[in-house]
Amino acid sequence: MRHGADLDSLDGKQEQQRFNCWHCGSELVWGGDHDLDDYTQDYDIVSNFQCMNCETFVEVYHKCQ
Ligand SMILES: [Zn+2]
Repeated sequence: MRHGADLDSLDGKQEQQRFNCWHCGSELVWGGDHDLDDYTQDYDIVSNFQCMNCETFVEVYHKCQ
C-alpha cells in the first residue's frame, strides 16, 4: 500500500518536470519557479527551464486558478 503511493507521487513529479527542448530535443533542466503576484494578474507562477545541449531558455507561465 505504502509502496504504491510512493510510485504515484514519483510518476506525478516526473510528468510535471519532463520537457524536451523545442530546438534539439534534449531534456530541459528545471531552473526554478518565481512568484508573479506583483507582475501580472493573469499568471501566478513562472517556471524556468534550460537546455544543457543548445542553451535554449524556456519560461512556463502558470495561469491563475
Ligand atoms: Zn536544446
